[in-house]
Amino acid sequence: MDLSAAEMEVAVATIELKAPLDGVIFPLEQVPDPVFAQKMVGDGLSIDPLNQLLSAPCDGTVTQLHRAGHAVTLTTAEGVEVMMHIGLDTVELKGKGFTTLVEEGQVVRSGDPLIEFDADFLAIHAKSLLTQVVVTNMERLASLVPATGTVRANDDVALVLEVLDSAGVEQASGERVISEAVLIPNTTGLHARPAAVLANMAKQYQSRVLVQRGEDQANAKSLVSIMGLEVSYQDKVVLIAEGPDAAEAVAAITPQLASGLGDEGTKPAPAPATTEITEDAAPAPRPRSEDPRLLLGVSASPGVGVGKLFQLRRDEIEVREEGEDPHRERRTLDDAIDQAKVQLQALQSELHAQGQPAKAAIFAAHQELLEDPDLLDIAVSAMAKGKSAAYAWKRAYTTHAERLAQLRNKLLAERANDLQDVGRRVLAIITGQSVEEPELPPETILVAEELTPSDTASLDRSRVLGFCTVGGGATSHVAILARALDIPAVAGIEPRALDLDNGRPVILDGTRGTLRLDPDLKEIERIREVKEKTARKREADLAAAQDAAVTPDGHRVEIVANIGGEDEARRAVELGAEGVGLLRSEFLYLERTSAPTEDEQYQIYSGIATALEERPLIIRTLDVGGDKPLPYLPLPREENPFLGVRGVRIALDRPEILRTQIRAILRVSRCSRLGIMFPMIASLDEIRAIKGVLAEEQDKLGRSEPFQVGIMVEVPSTAVMAEQFAKEVDFFSIGTNDLTQYTLAMDRGHPKLAPQADAMNPAVLRLIAQTVEGAHASGKWVGVCGGIASDLQAVPILVGLGVDELSVSVPSVPAVKAEVRSRTLDECKALAQRALDQDTAAAVRALVPLEF
Ligand code: PEP
Ligand code: MG
Repeated sequence: MDLSAAEMEVAVATIELKAPLDGVIFPLEQVPDPVFAQKMVGDGLSIDPLNQLLSAPCDGTVTQLHRAGHAVTLTTAEGVEVMMHIGLDTVELKGKGFTTLVEEGQVVRSGDPLIEFDADFLAIHAKSLLTQVVVTNMERLASLVPATGTVRANDDVALVLEVLDSAGVEQASGERVISEAVLIPNTTGLHARPAAVLANMAKQYQSRVLVQRGEDQANAKSLVSIMGLEVSYQDKVVLIAEGPDAAEAVAAITPQLASGLGDEGTKPAPAPATTEITEDAAPAPRPRSEDPRLLLGVSASPGVGVGKLFQLRRDEIEVREEGEDPHRERRTLDDAIDQAKVQLQALQSELHAQGQPAKAAIFAAHQELLEDPDLLDIAVSAMAKGKSAAYAWKRAYTTHAERLAQLRNKLLAERANDLQDVGRRVLAIITGQSVEEPELPPETILVAEELTPSDTASLDRSRVLGFCTVGGGATSHVAILARALDIPAVAGIEPRALDLDNGRPVILDGTRGTLRLDPDLKEIERIREVKEKTARKREADLAAAQDAAVTPDGHRVEIVANIGGEDEARRAVELGAEGVGLLRSEFLYLERTSAPTEDEQYQIYSGIATALEERPLIIRTLDVGGDKPLPYLPLPREENPFLGVRGVRIALDRPEILRTQIRAILRVSRCSRLGIMFPMIASLDEIRAIKGVLAEEQDKLGRSEPFQVGIMVEVPSTAVMAEQFAKEVDFFSIGTNDLTQYTLAMDRGHPKLAPQADAMNPAVLRLIAQTVEGAHASGKWVGVCGGIASDLQAVPILVGLGVDELSVSVPSVPAVKAEVRSRTLDECKALAQRALDQDTAAAVRALVPLEF
């Protein structure tokens, strides 16, 4: 039946909503949150509460109670949905500060208590206490009149509603369109704000629109219904539309849903370009060499290979798009995944048998990727829509891999290549296309767009002397495997490498990250000699690795390691590290989706202390933000994350996280010297505030064993004020990676600025000198834990500047120790003085030429 607008707008009832709180009424437009202020959730009012108990404003049924306890919706007998949302951004408190007094489905009477809240807690932890009372299905109302001024809960009327006899007519007849599966990117799920955006979008279409997660469905036009579905971060949902404009609705809403519906808590997606950049005009992604015979990249695995170039090209595996019977396609995929798992298991057993547990672990991780339910569900969803198993699978893993590749966290982004690898393994099985390995000539230097961990692990070491890839980076699994295989490798090489002919003579320098073309015979001979010398030196360094690093004139420098976990702690001890100067504690939790408990943290730190067999251990508290996001600690998107709330600023902002970690660290015993170190300290106020927290937790725990308190020197202000800071702490550890980026105003990960962002810049060296001077004046010690400490050209300069401890990457421990032993302290001091007087980083490096 067709209803005219006039017939539809007949008010059949008036509802008076009582004030659910004591407080002062504010117009919704004044709420400092655009979703409420712009009435995207619905119309109503806001109350600044004077009491702490939210009561029912009318009779009704509790149709939605958010699990975070901050929002509740009542539906009246007339079908009007009244949502009450306590505070702003309170979903992020995950239930803390709220006590719910009702359950979903419960029938309540006007005045019944619904939610009790701790106003003091919210006042500190939430953006605002303003509580919104809104009707979310405004299409049911002819009018809504809010009260003004001060109201008393359960006595005063807050809103008067005129209810219509019928809602807009939704047309459900017509085609039914189902979207692809979407992974929700909003870190706090589809809470009120994104849900409101979704509902408003859906309401623009005549068709019925549903959101489906698993077997549960919600009306996408109803905020309450969406919130009732309790969709969380990374949940997989589909949109289903039925009606005359179903296809348009799905086409318009799906991409919005996939990109977070404009929500702040969404994982950052790459910023859209405001102007279209043509390929020619786009800046070069990596440094390019001026010399036609030299190609630049980045070091992925040290060493030099002299040989002949061979291009390894991977052909795309062609797939048929249309599938047959979805059940048959599904079986094909399941069988292929099972076969791939068997292959991976066999590969792991082989690697274990060869005593290569680290390599085996990479393929164990691949096996786990195949268990990923999201990956499978995306493929299943495509097969259900008539796609072939091969097409659906290829689409699922490439989509996932692209998403990973976009993450700012380099470690996670580089896992994209693992997913491509294992995805391709399954695809090759489905399509029956054997991935034929080409016959490699002897003395091969491989060039490829990208190598996968499988390619790398199966490299024929008797023929391949090194490889370079256009893609990848120093922390990819390919780079890790190359280092484990002790094969020189360069990542991010200039793309023109792909156009070079097979058989061309080349020198691949994995240490410097270069590929030299057509070297002359003399050059080749020289390198062969250097290689032999380097191998001999390496053996000698290893043989002396357990000895102390003492200069010939008796000055001892402590050589410790930078680690990210227990395995590295063990390896560090094997290679002669005298302890750990930097445990990057955030590396332990990078892939966790929930915060580690105090006990969990304590177990991990104790495990590391035990692995170190009582050597010193310095644990740095969480250093997140900037380029290191933690999935369980969503941070608001920032314009300029390196200059925003990162490192210790987060700790001060979220003291409960800091306190938990401090307690876990202070419980560690069996360690000759335990240090707790705070990252990104920029002002004295920060360290004083932190020390206050530390003292409180120490008192509560009653720890009497001594421990040291230190700070990272990563911000120029801290280096400049070292003298004052030295009165507050026991030690400094200079983080030259960040200190360089902040001193030179060059993003440490910037591909174009990388060659200039060199910690050997005299400006950075002068800050190091100033830090040492300030620390030593108060008898405090200074370490360096940034990348420069592992740089053999920098080691004598740092020693000469008076640095007491070098915390270096695990594999470089023996070489750094040997370097310290090679010059007297006086020589180092003279060198350091000359370095401080140079104009550029290049001039400083020229003072300490590398042997090769
Ligand atoms: C540094 O900034 O030099 C440092 C050691 O810390 P990270 O590299 O973890 O930021
Ligand atoms: Mg740092």
